[in-house]
Amino acid sequence: MYQGNPVSEGIAMGKVMLYEPFIPVVDGTAISKEEIPAALSHYKNARGGAKEELEALHSRLRQDDPGKAKIIKAHMDILFDVAMEEEIQDAISDGKSTEAAVDKIFRKYIRIIGKSADERIRERASDLEDVRCRLLRNCMGVKEKNLAFLTDPVVVVAKDLFPSDTASMDRKKVLAIVTEVGGPTSHTAIIARSYEIPALLGVPNILSGLQNGQQVIVDAVEGSLITDPTDEEQKAYKEKEIRFQEKAAETRQYLEGDAVTKDGVKIEVELNIGSANAQEIHDIQYTNGVGLFRSEFLYMGRDTLPSEEEQYKIYRKVLTQAGGNPVTLRTLDIGGDKKLDCMELPKEDNPFLGNRALRLCLQHRDIFKTQLRAALRAGTIGNLWIMFPMVGSLDDVRSAKAVVREVQQDLDREKIEYGKNIKFGIMIEIPAIAMIADLAVKEVDFASIGTNDLCQYTTAVDRLNQNVASYYQSYHPAMFRLIRYTVEQFNKAGKPIGVCGELGGDKLAMPVLLGFGMRRISMGIASLARAKKIISRLDLNLAKEMADKVCRMETAGDVEAYLKDSLKDII
Ligand code: PEP
Ligand code: MG
Repeated sequence: MYQGNPVSEGIAMGKVMLYEPFIPVVDGTAISKEEIPAALSHYKNARGGAKEELEALHSRLRQDDPGKAKIIKAHMDILFDVAMEEEIQDAISDGKSTEAAVDKIFRKYIRIIGKSADERIRERASDLEDVRCRLLRNCMGVKEKNLAFLTDPVVVVAKDLFPSDTASMDRKKVLAIVTEVGGPTSHTAIIARSYEIPALLGVPNILSGLQNGQQVIVDAVEGSLITDPTDEEQKAYKEKEIRFQEKAAETRQYLEGDAVTKDGVKIEVELNIGSANAQEIHDIQYTNGVGLFRSEFLYMGRDTLPSEEEQYKIYRKVLTQAGGNPVTLRTLDIGGDKKLDCMELPKEDNPFLGNRALRLCLQHRDIFKTQLRAALRAGTIGNLWIMFPMVGSLDDVRSAKAVVREVQQDLDREKIEYGKNIKFGIMIEIPAIAMIADLAVKEVDFASIGTNDLCQYTTAVDRLNQNVASYYQSYHPAMFRLIRYTVEQFNKAGKPIGVCGELGGDKLAMPVLLGFGMRRISMGIASLARAKKIISRLDLNLAKEMADKVCRMETAGDVEAYLKDSLKDII
């Protein structure tokens, strides 16, 4: 039995699929004259295999995602490029093995294209890289692995998953996710919860311990994984799953309707969304708005940056669905653990302390401005709130607002309409800005507390590093003191303050936040019904008492035990 962190509740039973991205390693073995004909036909066969994969991909994507289908078509063109074919054949005829010849010629073109002055041509280098890996994998006889195109339902087991893996994942076929690294606030966890896929993260050495096709039970309630379960174990877990589903069905009844405390205070409950897919758009109706739109998901899993027009259309769609309720659009938050295929970022030793989010946007003004233009234009309808991530100082706030002013001036000059009542705010996720919330509040229209990063930076713990996971203490009294101070300052100034990190939907912490005077909480769909259920059973007098107590407690463990006991009849 393996133990892990159950970050997205649920129980699943099924076959394991070990997921490891393919990284081709090519040696430069030379071949003899006699081997040349076989190597040439090996190249053609491998290319045929790659072609079949691309065709299958293309026909599936044509309906679901025409944009991605076009990219696959371009990959087919690269695969059959006449000039490259000739050069690969020449290299083989000169005595290179099939793999070495393919690798050499593809790398040559990747280098040439990567140096082009034209950005659109430069971007094609990543398509070439993709085809290089596909063709080499076929040369080496390794089967394709891709979470977007699964044939059978599987339990995905990986060292870690990138946001682009999870964003493109075929969620109907993924029974559960199990990884070696990651905790409750990693992006894999957040996505798993929003897709309602049971997930067990931080399971040491799980990759080497399991085999493809092995039968497992993933208990992402207790936090365990059982291999090759006996009939008895299977029966016990099936019963447990039924009980889990019954409780979930009871909680789901709270999904619709307002969130009002037992003593009659209305709480604004909002939704966290990512790529604005059909499911997320649909779920907005259960909430009082979108408290966090993680716009970076629009940039992930693709080879080109989303255009202004593309973003404009998506932002408008979300604003329309939200009616007059707020849509809090967080500007591009990449760097740290969030990488983009369409933008190469330099490797950093400490990416979470490096050039991420707003810092990066202030450096890449073109990308930032394109997003702001799209957002400002979309803001002629609905109730748009634009929020900047990773703000550490008033300089950051002022720089971001200065870019907004430049974009507004451009639009004025071009006589293009844009929203005039948009609110501008910040995420509170760096302790430095929380500690000057009294000053920050004067510069902004609103703020939202990103407790995931606030915890990372307050406790000095990389939120993805399994080795120090026990130090990542969301219930640390220091967290509650910082949150209390921030809420007090914004309430005093009469400006909206919310929370959009995972603590907003946390069954123990959320009542405390309400006790501080927070009246706006945002979370993923998976926590929504439960949060409304808890709110309906909660008296704010108890919430205030708990809020007061936790700030005076000594350790996170004390806080957790106290909250569990105080809330046992409510949660
Ligand atoms: C946070 O840090 O709490 C947050 C909401 O942002 P993300 O999890 O996307 O970093
Ligand atoms: Mg954050």
